[in-house]
Amino acid sequence: MPREILSNAVILEGEDLEITRGYLVIEDGVIREISEGSPQKRAVNLNGGFIMPPFINAHTHVVDAVAKELYLGKSQPQVVGPRGAKFRALENSPLDRMTQATRVTLQDMLATGTLAHCDFREGGVQGVNFLREITRPPLISIILGRFLKVEEMPELLSISDGLGIPSLDAFPKNVLEEASAAAHKRGKFFSAHVAENVREMRAFRKKHHRSEAEQAIKLKCSFVVHATHCSRAELLDLKANNIPVVLCPRANSLLGVGVPPIDLVLETGLEFFFGTDNAMVCQPDMFDEISFAWRCLRRNDDAAGSDEAKTLLAAATVRPLSLFKMPWGPVAEGEKATFLVLAKKSNLLCLSDVYAGLVNRARADNLRAIYFNGKIIIS
Ligand SMILES: [Zn+2]
Repeated sequence: MPREILSNAVILEGEDLEITRGYLVIEDGVIREISEGSPQKRAVNLNGGFIMPPFINAHTHVVDAVAKELYLGKSQPQVVGPRGAKFRALENSPLDRMTQATRVTLQDMLATGTLAHCDFREGGVQGVNFLREITRPPLISIILGRFLKVEEMPELLSISDGLGIPSLDAFPKNVLEEASAAAHKRGKFFSAHVAENVREMRAFRKKHHRSEAEQAIKLKCSFVVHATHCSRAELLDLKANNIPVVLCPRANSLLGVGVPPIDLVLETGLEFFFGTDNAMVCQPDMFDEISFAWRCLRRNDDAAGSDEAKTLLAAATVRPLSLFKMPWGPVAEGEKATFLVLAKKSNLLCLSDVYAGLVNRARADNLRAIYFNGKIIIS
């Protein structure tokens, strides 16, 4: 019976990422034991390294990697809005170049500790199939498609994990209602970008006499992306309707639309996750995303400390597990042995607070191993 013991570790255990300083026993791909202290048997000494759950990147557009830095000199709507530069770049890129750019971006995602991502994939049925064919296990691509024509919706829903709508103004209201109902009927996701750009958000309210958040609630979104300019009241409304938000602080910043109100999201207790958004703008590196989010939060709230850092870490790792129905759980006894091992070296030495230290300082080069069902897939 294959058995491995990892000792002298700081283990972020369970859904609350509680710290256990001790060892972890893997048997048949499952975490059999987590205990404080030292094991009786021979073990791999992690020398004070960290065991934490893998990242889940809750919002990407990975194929955009074919047009890196395309945003320079352009406003957010000029880049990703209707008929934006991004769409011309995707249309004009040769297939082999797009394939290569996507493949290396997915490899980078895995190499930086992410085992699943949720992608808003443009290009209808063809677009979804394109990403589906490139993704290789153990990485999981949750792919939300975008229909080009309403007639395409049934086929799109049959091959995708749901629908990712560019904006709640992209289609007439009745089409979106139909799309939402069709997605939910099949048990799939229906999601949209919401309140990313303040100017468009105001125009939406003027045209529809309600906010984008209100519209997202009416359309029963499974979750919404951005909420960059949502008010406290709107965040509370989303919470009351059990609609989580995916925050993308780096992409928002680089596209010049602001930063999400992470302090308000924390204050309201709304469920939230993190996404790295357009690969044209940001590498899909969740270490970088949470570290930037920490800076954004501390800029608005200098009282943010260990608890808040832990909440950010949980949002990037264990909180999305159930929504996305991931085949692993938190780092806990009886769960699959799927986790990251981080070396305690240079940047992670002498941490007076594990959560804030990891969120602020951990980098991909701290990754000593990625375990997937008890097997090391990257070391
Ligand atoms: Zn997006």
